[in-house]
Amino acid sequence: MGKQQIQSLRGMYDLLPEQTVDYDYILAAFRSVARSAGYGRIETPLLEDKALFERGVGADTDAVSKEMYAFTDRSDNGVALRPEFTAGIVRAFIEHGMNSQPQPVKLYSYGPLFRYDRPQAGRQRQFNQVNVEVIGEAAPSIDAQVIVLALRFFRRINLTNVTLQLNSIGDAACRGKYRTALIEYFKVNAKKLAAVDRERYENNPLRVLDSKEASSQSVLADAPQTLNYLCDACQAHFSGVLEYLDDLGVAYELNPLLVRGLDYYTRTVFEFYGEREGSQSALGGGGRYDALVERLGGQPTPAIGFALGLERMLLEIDEAGAKAVQPDDKRVYVASLGEPARLAAFRLIEQLLDGSVGALGAVDRDGIGSQLARADKLGVPLAIIIGQKEVREETVILRDMASGAQEILPLNGIVAELRSRFGIV
Ligand code: AMP
Repeated sequence: MGKQQIQSLRGMYDLLPEQTVDYDYILAAFRSVARSAGYGRIETPLLEDKALFERGVGADTDAVSKEMYAFTDRSDNGVALRPEFTAGIVRAFIEHGMNSQPQPVKLYSYGPLFRYDRPQAGRQRQFNQVNVEVIGEAAPSIDAQVIVLALRFFRRINLTNVTLQLNSIGDAACRGKYRTALIEYFKVNAKKLAAVDRERYENNPLRVLDSKEASSQSVLADAPQTLNYLCDACQAHFSGVLEYLDDLGVAYELNPLLVRGLDYYTRTVFEFYGEREGSQSALGGGGRYDALVERLGGQPTPAIGFALGLERMLLEIDEAGAKAVQPDDKRVYVASLGEPARLAAFRLIEQLLDGSVGALGAVDRDGIGSQLARADKLGVPLAIIIGQKEVREETVILRDMASGAQEILPLNGIVAELRSRFGIV
């Protein structure tokens, strides 16, 4: 009897070569957009003290209470796989005394996160985000800059129809009054709320605003709105953000129900939506978290950031029929016919690679026709063909795969020739 096959865990997926092309392109675009705006890359551990997320993200958020991969390690320490980036990055900011660096500190990061969620399209248990944080600056211009950075990045990866939704949820000074008004409103309308929302509105009224329950929607439509409860300082901040966005001609929708699922947010919150329908259509979002650094043991330090889901962006790129990246067009396929040519092709592939020219070919098999068919399938623009005659004359045939035109070139110098044709400097 054969051994039972072991499969990947539920909600965890392999990214196969045809998917990593777009994936790598997205990351490269993100790195470039972030670096040119002065962000430095930070990488924090996947595994952290569980208390970091309980205290940072909030012990009764879904991400922590229901979805966190938490366990005790072999020394009985409570640890957790990170469900999001911000708490770990703020921990690192404090731990490395980054408040003594010129402020604000601008950081970007990307990598895998873990949430024990119900898997469905666009929702996985291991997923990837790209993330930025700006720590140490309270000005509304920073909020606008951060939002515009995300929009610039979307354009860079050919996602041109992304909608920005905005709201302000105030700070400790005005949140209390709003919370009370909201609880009061939900109490009056409790009968119309879905059962889960009826149970949680007392403890977590803001989370109910985020409810996807169909029966709660009519209640939510008329719920008190945060914007009407902002204190003067929060009001002035939000007006400032809108003015800067208006100045740059950035389109946005004000969404009074936008609160975001994590506890640390204050003031500006925002989300980005693509064209895909359905509940998993958010590409990402973020907001200010002016109280988090202090909550995690640092000096009071204002901050803002966002995170965008990589798998969601891949789905969106598929849906929009956009191509994040053109197929690799700087590679040559080396085909050979006959015994001495095989060795010549084998050597040439390695010489081309040494010369930074993308080169591939299966020198040990197939006739010339199937080798060229394979080259075609791989989408390479050029093929080199070496037969017995070429070996004798120390030449190669260079074939343009699109037109079929062929030319004969000296073997000696072909690496330099291809470098120049591919514009490799
Ligand atoms: P959040 O911080 O929870 O709003 O997540 C930000 C973005 O990360 C979301 O808008 C999604 O694009 C992505 N994301 C969050 N959770 C998951 C998940 N379980 N699977 C895939 N993507 C996710």
